[in-house]
Amino acid sequence: MTIPVAIDTDPGVDDAVALMLAMRSPEIRVELITTVAGNVPVRVSFRNAKRLVALVNPSVWPAVAAGCAKPLNTRLTTATHVHGDDGLGGNADKFPVPSRLRTNANGVEQLIEFTRRNGAQGIIIAIGPLTNIARAIQRAPKVMKTLGRLVIMGGAVRAPGNMSPVAEFNIFVDPEAADVVFGFALDTLLIPLDVTRQVILSESKIRSLGRGPLANAVKLITLAAAKKFNGMPMHDALAVAAVIELSLVGTEDLHVRVETEGKRTRGMTVADFRPSMRGKGSTIAVATTVNANAMLSMLDNRVLSADSNARQGGKGRVAVVGSANVDLSIVVDALPGAGETVLGDPVVQAFGGKGANQAVAAHRAGADVTLVARLGADGFGDEYLAFLNAEGIDASTCSRDKSAPTGVATITISNSGENQIAVASGANMSLTPHVLSPAISTRIAEADVLVTQLEIPIETVKKALRAARASGVTTVHNPAPAQPLDEQFLSLIDVLVCNEVEAQMLTGSGVKTLADARRSATALRARGIANVVVTLGAKGLVYLEEGTKQPVHIAAKRVKAVDTTGAGDTFVGYLAGALAQKSTLRPALELANRAAARSVTKRGAIPSIPKRRSL
Ligand code: ADP
Repeated sequence: MTIPVAIDTDPGVDDAVALMLAMRSPEIRVELITTVAGNVPVRVSFRNAKRLVALVNPSVWPAVAAGCAKPLNTRLTTATHVHGDDGLGGNADKFPVPSRLRTNANGVEQLIEFTRRNGAQGIIIAIGPLTNIARAIQRAPKVMKTLGRLVIMGGAVRAPGNMSPVAEFNIFVDPEAADVVFGFALDTLLIPLDVTRQVILSESKIRSLGRGPLANAVKLITLAAAKKFNGMPMHDALAVAAVIELSLVGTEDLHVRVETEGKRTRGMTVADFRPSMRGKGSTIAVATTVNANAMLSMLDNRVLSADSNARQGGKGRVAVVGSANVDLSIVVDALPGAGETVLGDPVVQAFGGKGANQAVAAHRAGADVTLVARLGADGFGDEYLAFLNAEGIDASTCSRDKSAPTGVATITISNSGENQIAVASGANMSLTPHVLSPAISTRIAEADVLVTQLEIPIETVKKALRAARASGVTTVHNPAPAQPLDEQFLSLIDVLVCNEVEAQMLTGSGVKTLADARRSATALRARGIANVVVTLGAKGLVYLEEGTKQPVHIAAKRVKAVDTTGAGDTFVGYLAGALAQKSTLRPALELANRAAARSVTKRGAIPSIPKRRSL
């Protein structure tokens, strides 16, 4: 399972290397980068963070947000003599700032939101002054207490400082913030100068770099500093590396506080080494030894070598904007009539909602998937996030609603297969256009395919489709549950996938036979949709492809149907996944048709979605 990570940073030469390493490491998923004033002013560090995201171009781009512009209550000291005025060794302008990656969100709020979303699974790696982290703790102490781990590059525990005889830069710049953080007693790993000074990228190594965009970038960014300081210590990259592979460092549990007063010692990290104090009070893990060679070879493999710079094979990126519900099902002998109570089998809880189902299907089809959904700030919401994370779906754009609960569907099923369903949409209905906004410039604009349905407010669906259109992202829309749609809405759809009921709603004519389905596809084309797919259950599907006039039938594979719940969602997700992986329409439909047929042979919605390799 990948670890959700937020990186708080002030790039910064070695910060840049740390960010590259983080975004090239599959063990962690960088969901958020927040920037702080430190090596350079915050507006410079913010731009640099965006430059680095564009340079690495991971399959899912993290959100980037600027945090505090100055320390809690002291003036900012920068380190431009080390990092250059532009923070990237005088070469920042060689790395364009992506225009798509915009976020106006505040970094401190984003750190709180990251923690609320990920709780004990989340790790924040702080590689700049601790101002943003301290502000987050002051603003939302209860939420921040739930953070899984804080990893800090900072301090000089037994070693000399680099800003004064005893103070390290990150702590020195904002000792008050550091004191708030160290006093808050989170599960903390401290990576001090004691160990980072031992991991040096030598000047000769840097000079020898060159092949590949990342290696070349490291050379451009670090060479000036390496020349000046006889090699470049990988301070910040070590903090990231220790999250990827904890065994790179050896630690001691120590009680550590920060000196905020001393005339000569302000910013000193004061560790209590007294034998009588060992293990007493709140302690943090302090890295005191490091396997420098292992760390440097990790960096080599992932960032510096020419091989690691080869473009990764296109997995295809799918963004799904839609619903997430928890389904609660009870099987009874016969459905209850009005006013009647019947007893049933034990309740079965499952994750559902069309958005989430389709996201899982696209992921199992082999694509990288982001789900933009809204959950309640309740237990179901927590369980849902854990499920999405375990599945490998990027849920960093799933937000939580404090006042509305996670959507729930209660399903009563009779032994003969009839059912009654009541849905409480809850938080799904607060997935408003405003809530969607932060995901647009990152997840939607960067996707190959956007998938939408109608279990969330239609204005949000429209906004997502419009944003995708504006960025040249293919849109796949599933108009379920069926409702009338106007021409303006339909004009935003590249591929419409509807079943018989939805086709009837959109065309006004019933769909019973293959001939009806063909007519229906032609009618929908006339309403302005380039590619139309009408799914027909056991009869397969009819499609009408852009540039052609004749609807074409593809038969379904004959299978023993056990439970058809989620067949349509499997179909839509697989189709989107295949299109994102650059399949043309016909083979993508064939794959979706096979996957959906397989799904009806097993019970449940998500449990029945097959993995691609099993097809
Ligand atoms: P929905 O679940 O939205 O009502 P359909 O019933 O049309 O959608 O099914 C969607 C797809 O699932 C079909 O196009 C087909 O590929 C597959 N499918 C559904 N039912 C069966 C079945 N009984 N046998 C084989 N494939 C099926």
